[in-house]
Amino acid sequence: MLTDLLTINDKPGEYPPSWYASTAEPPSPRTPLEGEVKTSVCIIGAGYTGLSTAMHLAKAGVDCVVLEANRVGWGASGRNGGQIGCGFNKDQPYLHKHVGQDRAKKMWDISIDASSLVQTLCREIKQQHKIDCHYQPGIVYTSSSEKLFEEQKQEVDFLAKHYDCNDIEIVSKQQLSSVLASDSYRGGVINHSAAHLHPLNYALGLAALAENSGAKIFENSRVSSMNIPFASSHSAMGGKRIQTEKGHVIAQHVVLACNGYLNNLNPLIASKVMPINNYIIATEPLPDAFPDSLIANQQAICDDRFVVNYFRMTHDKRLLFGGGETWGYEFPADIKRIVSKPMLSVFPQLANTRIDYAWGGTLAITRNRLPCFEEISKRFWNASGYSGHGVALASIAGKIISQAIAGDKSAFDLMSDIPHQTFPGGDRARPVLLKMAMAWYATRDRLGI
Ligand SMILES: Cc1cc2nc3c(=O)[nH]c(=O)nc-3n(C[C@H](O)[C@H](O)[C@H](O)COP(=O)(O)OP(=O)(O)OC[C@H]3O[C@@H](n4cnc5c(N)ncnc54)[C@H](O)[C@@H]3O)c2cc1C
Repeated sequence: MLTDLLTINDKPGEYPPSWYASTAEPPSPRTPLEGEVKTSVCIIGAGYTGLSTAMHLAKAGVDCVVLEANRVGWGASGRNGGQIGCGFNKDQPYLHKHVGQDRAKKMWDISIDASSLVQTLCREIKQQHKIDCHYQPGIVYTSSSEKLFEEQKQEVDFLAKHYDCNDIEIVSKQQLSSVLASDSYRGGVINHSAAHLHPLNYALGLAALAENSGAKIFENSRVSSMNIPFASSHSAMGGKRIQTEKGHVIAQHVVLACNGYLNNLNPLIASKVMPINNYIIATEPLPDAFPDSLIANQQAICDDRFVVNYFRMTHDKRLLFGGGETWGYEFPADIKRIVSKPMLSVFPQLANTRIDYAWGGTLAITRNRLPCFEEISKRFWNASGYSGHGVALASIAGKIISQAIAGDKSAFDLMSDIPHQTFPGGDRARPVLLKMAMAWYATRDRLGI
């Protein structure tokens, strides 16, 4: 039996007990799919990828349906750190070397469009639907060693030289002390174009924008099987049948937007896109003087450890801290204890602070840590594996897929031409091998080698 990632850690149809869920106001559950629905595009999954695809299609007047196994933003999109960085998991100097200067520059432009798309959508969501995504500019990327700090500075020079990017400020260890009340880092850079937000509100807002433009979303509608004719057959041009418990959709196009929760719905993508878990805690509200003295100017922080620590203050004055490490599909029983460890190593002054919330989520990585865009067969699309950069990249993926469906495949092809290797091992061995590799890198991190 394969692990069912949709049910192993969470109650079906319920948001996990996160600070996000406790501060969001989702509408009552939408009705599940029943009977037959015919549409142009059927999208599976209502995270940022699926919702952004639906919103862009609906705005362009294309008929589309979203099928979500649980609730809108139930997956990684409603649980993440909310950080909107620039670029990809691999830095631009690496991309120049490995995908070529021209493609690397075009990818950079896509990532910049992605960040500004999120900003624009947050504005629209607030204006049209009165949902506050708490969009806040400024991320400080901190370095845990002199060597990594030097590399960071070189990257800043590279971005200024090649892309005329001058929004990033280098901060020495001494300057960093006025931004962050922690002794853990050697220096860092402040990216004034990067930002952070309330991820679940953003997902709920995207759904509202999509529905407002005519998209139809069904919740508690898990897809159990798909009948997708082969690319070469005549029927591939239409008539794809997507089955849920109580109904089915007949569509010309199908979009897989399941990211880390794909399970084995499509074995080809499942072999290239690996689910991993990550955890976040939120403290009790901190005393009035505390928040600004912990992190200045409402910025978010992201460090450079292999098991990344990322943190920020919430609008109700809690520290929200992401990190910790466990490998395997099951969430640990004591997320609070596991994530408190790195939090206290960064902020020992919080030793007596209560932790009010702790939750986990499943994201997805690829072997080269670049997103996997693929037209699996004619009119059967996938985008996933954003490798920790999905707030911005999944949002733009929806736009790119909708353009491809409308006939402009330039951005889709740019991304899908990047080759993706499969993870070694079959369905069973893959998680074990990943666990071993991750444990090795995490150990290297702790030893500083
Ligand atoms: C703890 C954590 C912290 C993170 N921090 C950041 C961060 O700070 N910045 C950043 O950029 N990224 C971050 N990420 C990653 C980011 O959240 C994801 O890349 C992004 O949300 C992916 O969006 P998605 O729509 O592709 O997938 P998801 O949001 O996971 O949505 C997939 C949806 O598909 C549905 N689904 C799956 N199977 C089926 C089926 N058979 N039938 C119907 N529906 C189905 C699921 O229920 C789910 O709702 C983080 C992730 C986690 C877990």
